[in-house]
Amino acid sequence: MATIDTLLTDLPSTAVWQEQVYIQLHQTPELSGREVKTVALVAEKLAAWGYEVRHIGGGVVGVMRNGDGSVVLTRADMDALPVTEATGLPYASTLTDIDEEGRRVGVMHACGHDVHVTTQLGAAELMAKHREAWSGTFIPLFQPAEETVGGAQGMVDAGLVAAIPKPDVAYGQHVFGILAGHVAVHPGPTMSASDSIRVTVWGKGTHGSMPNQGVDPVVLAAAIVLRLQGIVAREVKPGTTAVVTVGSLQAGTKSNIIGDTAVLFINTRSYSADVRSALHAAIERIIRAECQASGSPREPEFCYYDQTPLTDNDERETEHIRQAFVAHFGAAAVEDLGQLSGSEDFGQLPDAFGIPYVYWGLGGFSDPSTAPANHSALFAPVIQPTLEIGTRAYLAAALSRLGR
Ligand code: ZN
Ligand code: ZN
Repeated sequence: MATIDTLLTDLPSTAVWQEQVYIQLHQTPELSGREVKTVALVAEKLAAWGYEVRHIGGGVVGVMRNGDGSVVLTRADMDALPVTEATGLPYASTLTDIDEEGRRVGVMHACGHDVHVTTQLGAAELMAKHREAWSGTFIPLFQPAEETVGGAQGMVDAGLVAAIPKPDVAYGQHVFGILAGHVAVHPGPTMSASDSIRVTVWGKGTHGSMPNQGVDPVVLAAAIVLRLQGIVAREVKPGTTAVVTVGSLQAGTKSNIIGDTAVLFINTRSYSADVRSALHAAIERIIRAECQASGSPREPEFCYYDQTPLTDNDERETEHIRQAFVAHFGAAAVEDLGQLSGSEDFGQLPDAFGIPYVYWGLGGFSDPSTAPANHSALFAPVIQPTLEIGTRAYLAAALSRLGR
């Protein structure tokens, strides 16, 4: 009998509390950085099952040392979104909270992080119940604040690397609009790197009727916005994916006043470190040159924020996991995830340890062609088989390294 089958003999009893916990989490979603009840629930269960429990940077980590062998870290994110649920489900969230701008907003697990918490907890229980079946160290990590970016880095900054044994590999799972019962993996770049840049450029204020006495930051900013469009069109190799978007441009107060600054908010997406640095170098070069062309009195200021790294699945580890999934679920249930345009901060956890990782997709919908996108107010994975397959996927991955 394969190791995982030993653990799965107890899956039916695990599934009973999992469905209750899933509904409880779904009804009590918590915004990014406020995952207090979720953390308490997770910590209590991990402790009851015999894990060493560490509270780090708003997240919670279980460590189970079980003899010699590999060290495997699995990750689940915990936060919900400021979305008013419109699924009409009997267990739909009706909660609201006050967001960072002081507005009252609905709160919903519209990205399925309740699925991740529940399935990783199920795997943690089954690993703890069957220590005779595996050897090594298993580390289920529960991360806060993925949606606002910063939860993974926050755990690293709070001392994650020193607080737990160094993993050999890290695995992350996310539910998407894939057929329930299926999993999906993709080698190499899987989620894009996303960077936001706040750029301040300087003009020289004057009366709108006397533009010759100033430097107009509106004209300067307009020239920058148009010139930036040439980066992807003219500097990135055809066939390579890259995005440069000026999402916000703020300048001036009145029609007859020439102000003295303009602020641009720029977002970039890329699938390789080379393209990412080339985009940023081009943006800075063009903006500096346009400032010079306009006679700007000061150097522009660049502030990078909300940065998520490329999610770049290690090719060998991905093939290893793909084979483990095919062996466990059958080839027909293992899809190619492809390259997704969204972004994730998961990679910052393994990157802090300098270890390879695999991030895979979990199916949650009976008809993918009509599945709402993640973050939709209608996002509602079917409870089963999603929870069971998600639990088995974490186990299949962990035991591919730890099984006896
Ligand atoms: Zn999300
Ligand atoms: Zn998510």
